[in-house]
Amino acid sequence: MKIHEYQAKELFRAAGLSVPSGRVCETPEEAAAAYDELGSAVAVVKAQIHAGGRGKGGGVKLVRSRDEAREAADAILGMMLKTPQTSAEGQLVRKVWIEEGSDIAKEYYVGIVLDREKSLPVVMASSEGGMDIEEVAASTPEKILKAAYDPAVGLSEDQAAELSRGMGIPEDLVPQSVEFLLGLAKLYTEYDCSLAEINPLVTTNDGIVRALDAKINFDPNAMFRHDAIVALRDFHEEDSKEIEASKYDLSYIALDGNIGCMVNGAGLAMATMDVIKLYGGEPANFLDVGGGATTENVTAAFRILLGDENVKGVLINIFGGIMKCDVIAEGVIAAVKQIELNVPLVVRLEGTNVEKGREMLAGSGLPIIPATDLDDAAQKICEAVAASA
Ligand code: ADP
Ligand code: MG
Repeated sequence: MKIHEYQAKELFRAAGLSVPSGRVCETPEEAAAAYDELGSAVAVVKAQIHAGGRGKGGGVKLVRSRDEAREAADAILGMMLKTPQTSAEGQLVRKVWIEEGSDIAKEYYVGIVLDREKSLPVVMASSEGGMDIEEVAASTPEKILKAAYDPAVGLSEDQAAELSRGMGIPEDLVPQSVEFLLGLAKLYTEYDCSLAEINPLVTTNDGIVRALDAKINFDPNAMFRHDAIVALRDFHEEDSKEIEASKYDLSYIALDGNIGCMVNGAGLAMATMDVIKLYGGEPANFLDVGGGATTENVTAAFRILLGDENVKGVLINIFGGIMKCDVIAEGVIAAVKQIELNVPLVVRLEGTNVEKGREMLAGSGLPIIPATDLDDAAQKICEAVAASA
C-alpha cells in the first residue's frame, strides 16, 4: 500500500524526523495563501501522485512569491503528470504540497527495503542522491552502502554512524544524520513498511539534515493493525479493478496483456502466467481467488476480469483440493450465467471430484472450452485469443 509524499512527511514529523513545513492544497488560491502562511521567501510546489520522478516531469516547481505559487499550482493541478514511474498517459494531479524551500548544500540518498535473501531490513545510503538511484545502482553499485539490521533490535548507532560517514555527511552533521537514520529504521519497523525512501536527504547551508522527499510503502498483509495508515489510502491513485478485488479478498494485480486469468493459489497463478507466456500469450492480470473461493468470489472475479477492456479471453485454472471440483464447476456455471460472456473461456479443473466437475461444465450448455492439463489450457486460450484477433 502506498501513500503520498505529504502524508509520509506528516508521519516523519510525528516521529521527530526533520522535514520542511508545508501545506497540502487543492486549488491555486489555497497555494497562494499557503505561501504567505509558510513565510519562506523560496517555496516549492510539488505534485502529489503515487509515483516518483516528478521533478523531471515538471511536477516540482520553485516559487519566490505568492503569485508564482498560485501560477505553479495552477499549472500542476489537473495535469497528467508523466514520469518514468507512471503509465504512458501519466497520472492526474489532484493535490499539490507546498513547502518551505531548503538552501541545499548536498543531496544524498537513503532507503530501507526488505532484503529477501537475508530476511532482514537493509538500510541503503549513498552520496549520489537526487538523481536516478536506479542508474547509480546499475553502473556504480559500490556507491551504495548497505547495512542490514534485526528489526527486533533496531539499527545500531554504530551502523548509523558508519553509513553517515560512508556517504560523506560532514562530521559536524553526523549526529543529526545518525538520529535521522535511527528514527527512520524505527518508523519502518513500527509501521510494517516494505519501503521507506528519502531521495534526496539533504544537508543545508545552515547546518540541518532534512528529508526533502519521502516515499513509504506498507506491507498490505499488516494493515489490519494500522487503521491510521489505512485511512491514508487514496483510491484515486489505485487501479479500480484492484480496489474492487480487495473487497472480495481476491489477490488481483492488473497487467498489460489480454488473457484474463482466474487461478487458486499464488504459486499456481504464477505458473499459469508463465505457461501462457510460453505459448506466446500475455496475461492481463495475476488473480488468486484463494483456497475457499465461493460462487460470490468467482462471480466477482469474473466481473473484474471482463471489466478490463483489454481482456480478449479468460483462462480458469483451478486445483480442487480442499474445495472440490464439482463445487467449483457450480460456481463457474453460476457466474457465467450471471455475466454476459463475449470472449472465449477455457477451463481446466484438476483434483477431488474432477470427473463430476467436468461433466457439469460439459452439460451446462455454456460455450466453455474444456482443457485437460495446464499445457493444453494455455495452448487453447492462446489459440482462441489469436483466432479472435
Ligand atoms: P521527485 O523525486 O518525485 O522528482 P523530489 O521531492 O525529490 O521529487 O524533488 C525533486 C528535486 O527538487 C529534489 O531532488 C530537490 O533538488 C528539489 N527539491 C524538492 N523539495 C525541495 C525543497 N523543499 N527545497 C529545495 N529543493 C527541493
Ligand atoms: Mg525524489
